Amino acid sequence: MKEKVYIKKVNGYQDAVEVVEDMFCQLESTKQINENTKIILKPNLLAKHIPEHAVTTHPEILRGAIKACLSRGAKRENILVLDSAGGIYNSGQMKSLYQVCGLTKVCNEEGVALYTLCQSTTIDIDGQVAKQFDIINPVLQADYIINLPKMKTHVMTGMSAACKNMFGIIPGLKKSEWHMRFPDKERFGHMIVDLLEAIPPNIAIVDGILAMEGDGPAGGNPRNVGIVMASENMYQLDLAIAGMMNLNAMRVPYLKAANSRNLCSESFDKKDIVGDETLLEPISNWKLPESYTGKNNANTDFAAFVPSFIRPIVKKIEHTIAPHPVIDKKRCIGCGKCKEICSKDAIIIKDKKAKIIRKQCIHCFCCHEVCPVKAIEVKKLEIFKL
Ligand code: SF4
Ligand code: SF4
Repeated sequence: MKEKVYIKKVNGYQDAVEVVEDMFCQLESTKQINENTKIILKPNLLAKHIPEHAVTTHPEILRGAIKACLSRGAKRENILVLDSAGGIYNSGQMKSLYQVCGLTKVCNEEGVALYTLCQSTTIDIDGQVAKQFDIINPVLQADYIINLPKMKTHVMTGMSAACKNMFGIIPGLKKSEWHMRFPDKERFGHMIVDLLEAIPPNIAIVDGILAMEGDGPAGGNPRNVGIVMASENMYQLDLAIAGMMNLNAMRVPYLKAANSRNLCSESFDKKDIVGDETLLEPISNWKLPESYTGKNNANTDFAAFVPSFIRPIVKKIEHTIAPHPVIDKKRCIGCGKCKEICSKDAIIIKDKKAKIIRKQCIHCFCCHEVCPVKAIEVKKLEIFKL
């Protein structure tokens, strides 16, 4: 039943362990787990944030997944938790990230390891747009990959959940290189699909208890949605979540790319839900990112979504009119994290304040993701807010 999506209402993180076990019981492939299975648990650890900020997967969801694996006979030494954030990928950074996000405590209590060696290997793949990927080593040696995404909005892709979370198996700044190689969202979406097809997770359990709306994946606002979802099919999960966010799934670059390859439909079919179907209704007053609000969810790469005969004209002016990052100088603390991650050298730090060189910017919004004080806003022309 690979197409099925499981959904359950949850009161809070105190119930996370129980609901994750329930999801494991329903997902057929978890029967593969035994004492010899090498398991990777991949939460979303975008940046150093405490769980209450709703930027990262809550540690109690991780605890639930660890316990569910152990109860199926997995050995503690065969379970490894890993991710890479957007900036420099090294042991010190990862230890600090795991600590702040609350994962170190849970892993210590449950007796499983967090990956801090930060080694990766380049693999060849036969993707539609990507031919090689740098992948964090233990992912390549795993028998079973458990994807633990957070339900969030995303200024560049509209949303982030099961599909986008797997981008984190590419180490640190290598992710920025992909933004540089594929600045247009259409090809970026195909790259994400190439990655998912090359290294498909076995299951995903989505943390939608405290989700994020607005200018996610880091600059938005926590929103209590109170659900956990699971599936063996990443596209199906994200189609369902797009509907709940009242977001046209075909405006999500990787879902559009997957649909063009017949890997998913254009929207979620309610016949594939297991659980309370009413939970799939669009969430009342859900706030999309500024870059996706207004007519037709106008997004950061609208040239990709206009008829092909006018695409060249739109491409020419797109750079000027597209939603773009703007620094709030009052908030900026001059930490340089945005400069560090910008693959186009479009950011300079002057007088302890960041400044964006607009003509070099490719609107990838990586800077927006990593700013620790929400000092980078997404601006767009008033006309696109209509
Ligand atoms: S300034 Fe920000 S949005 Fe523009 S290219 Fe650099 S990281 Fe991407
Ligand atoms: S904009 Fe944010 S990330 Fe960039 S220097 Fe200022 S505080 Fe740091």
